[in-house]
Amino acid sequence: MKALISVSDKTGIVELAQQLHALGVGLISTGGTAKLLAEQGLPVTEVAEVTGFPEMLDGRVKTLHPKVHGGLLARRDTPEHMAALKAHNIDTIDLLIVNLYPFEATVAKPGCTLADAIENIDIGGPAMVRSAAKNWKDVGIVTDASQYADVIAELKTNGKLSDKLRFALSVAAFNRISQYDGAISNYLSSVNFETEKLSEAYVPERAQFSGQFNEQYVKVQDLRYGENSHQQAAWYRDLAPAAGSLATGVQLQGKELSYNNIADADAAWECVKSFDSSACVIVKHANPCGVAVGANPLEAYSKAFQTDPTSAFGGIIAFNRPVDKAAAEAVSKQFVEVLMAPDFSAEALEVFKSKVNVRLMKITLPADYGNVRNALETKRVGSGLLLQSADNHELALADLKVVTVKQPTPEELNDLLFAWKVAKFVKSNAIVFCKNGMTMGVGAGQMSRLDSARIASIKAEAAKLSLQNTVVASDAFFPFRDGLDVVVDAGATCVAQPGGSMRDQEVIDAANERGVAMVFTGVRHFRH
Ligand code: 5GP
Repeated sequence: MKALISVSDKTGIVELAQQLHALGVGLISTGGTAKLLAEQGLPVTEVAEVTGFPEMLDGRVKTLHPKVHGGLLARRDTPEHMAALKAHNIDTIDLLIVNLYPFEATVAKPGCTLADAIENIDIGGPAMVRSAAKNWKDVGIVTDASQYADVIAELKTNGKLSDKLRFALSVAAFNRISQYDGAISNYLSSVNFETEKLSEAYVPERAQFSGQFNEQYVKVQDLRYGENSHQQAAWYRDLAPAAGSLATGVQLQGKELSYNNIADADAAWECVKSFDSSACVIVKHANPCGVAVGANPLEAYSKAFQTDPTSAFGGIIAFNRPVDKAAAEAVSKQFVEVLMAPDFSAEALEVFKSKVNVRLMKITLPADYGNVRNALETKRVGSGLLLQSADNHELALADLKVVTVKQPTPEELNDLLFAWKVAKFVKSNAIVFCKNGMTMGVGAGQMSRLDSARIASIKAEAAKLSLQNTVVASDAFFPFRDGLDVVVDAGATCVAQPGGSMRDQEVIDAANERGVAMVFTGVRHFRH
């Protein structure tokens, strides 16, 4: 068995080569890699010796040769192929270990010139990767250090790689090439060849999501239908989903997720992730109908449920803490479509055992879960696509500007920050009443802010909640004082809004006249 090793990132490569050597695998390698392996006392054949050609043109041509590609591409079960190898004195190569010139890291460096970028476009590496990945039935293709352990483990146990592993490696290899080419095309599309400068639009954030956009998406599952039963649908995830995102979740039980389940689950999950303390979010039709923080999942859920018990029926519920028995028992009393949490205790799972239809999703949150967001949002519009970076703005206490005579109390400020977080996840126009870390009335998705304000108070009344001494978050500015009057009539004593309206002064005067506190956030959270 022969392995060709050609890596730019040499992390772990000596150990891998040592293990391959110990397993009797012959080693062929390119200049820099061969030198390193030889220094470690490993017997290695330089690729130049194999091809009979020196590496040339500053390394631009090293492995682009029939002796290499023939050895990678020949079908071992096709006699003509094997005869051709023999006739041309070509040896088979059974394992290829390659990682590419660091193009992405090079262009990420400030001051990277076009020439630097171009020199860091790997040519021979991807060519070999493609050859080996195409011929996956006969060749193992290793493109990432995270694969080394699996390869060695199989070689140790079976003396060869399984079809399953070779195929998985091939898929990963083509994914890597597609990502690499995406990064090159994205960079070149944004660089000015005369000034060698990147266009204004190439902000790192855009580079990041353009890179993603160039990636292939991977199908998670076909769905029974789309938003409605006459629409076809499937769920795809990013090639490299962000840690802690919905796509990284595992369904532990329940019916298959539907299109609407997934859309709502994502809304609930992204919202609950934004809280540091133990929180619960209940979503219906893409809008939170109850959000609360509490000492534990049970308390958070009980508060969230109280906001709007009617709407919570058939809701999608998300927790940012493991669900224990107490929370599970409380939730199991209501009709729930999907329940998401970073984990479920054994007793909690037991509670849902008899509720076979309830979909339980376990989604592991990374340690810094508060900051994990999808980098890119897309929306189809008439044969085109709108792209934007995700709304990741997080409001801090210091960002709040009090614009009224009346100052908010510390409790009100706390609730304002809570209400603001919720409002970000409510469809516009959003009006959110809150008190003691709990939503008290949510007005969502209306075409006028005034109607959202009215609806929020009507809903609170229906839930038998008093809006006296509540705070209100408005996702965008009040264009007139009427919306403010509605929330103050309902009982609000403190209001947060972005400000920035032509009539800000009219609204500030109204707040002063009504004796309530108002803060400007300076940022709005439209969500459509
Ligand atoms: P080394 O450090 O071993 O000299 O070079 C390793 C790098 O060379 C790897 O990243 C590999 O993808 C790349 N490489 C291998 N063959 C060729 C080739 O023919 N042309 C170019 N441009 N790069 C190659």
